[in-house]
Amino acid sequence: MPIAARWCTMRVQKETVGQENKDYRAMKILMSCGDLPFYYLEYIVSILNVPLFYVMGNHDKKVEYSANGQARTAPRGCVNIDNRVAQHKGLLIGGLEGSMRYTRDPRFQYSDPEMHFKVWQMAPQLLSNRIFRGRYLDILITHAPPYRIHDGQDLCHRGFRAFLRFMDLFKPRYLIHGHRHLYGCQQTAVAHYKETQVVNIFGYWVLEWNVYP
Ligand SMILES: [Zn+2]
Repeated sequence: MPIAARWCTMRVQKETVGQENKDYRAMKILMSCGDLPFYYLEYIVSILNVPLFYVMGNHDKKVEYSANGQARTAPRGCVNIDNRVAQHKGLLIGGLEGSMRYTRDPRFQYSDPEMHFKVWQMAPQLLSNRIFRGRYLDILITHAPPYRIHDGQDLCHRGFRAFLRFMDLFKPRYLIHGHRHLYGCQQTAVAHYKETQVVNIFGYWVLEWNVYP
């Protein structure tokens, strides 16, 4: 019999965690879609004490300095899953960082052909999952949206055709992305593409998941 588990995507506000400990302490895993400070991710992990899987966004810094001047290039205690698939308690989570390239800065920016190449680099691991676990993956977290789904007209916010191809081929149940701001009370926007639910997270989102036996 499947066991109900709760999975959470970021951002969880500091105040919210403080006020609603009961709810957030039930989370089994955290996912971050980028553009969040390292210290913030470390704070959430230290409060909830569960694994956090993340990808970088176009606004993530190369180096972040702590209050005592320590330099760090990644959040401590968190797992970067760019270009690979991680497995946690039977859940298969893949990641693809970055946005469409819109400046000369190469960090966390890609052209669509470059993102296609990253997708193909993941293919061996995804095929192995299909053979040995019966599915390619469950969730793909990305920073940018897919092309023409939740994306914008400007180059920076344009979605990747590579993500459409990914969903065509590898059929994740969810593609969860950030990068696009939502306004008003809206925390999430959900669209459907073939067998995948595409979720735009701006605030936070809680996903209930039945653990695989
Ligand atoms: Zn962004």
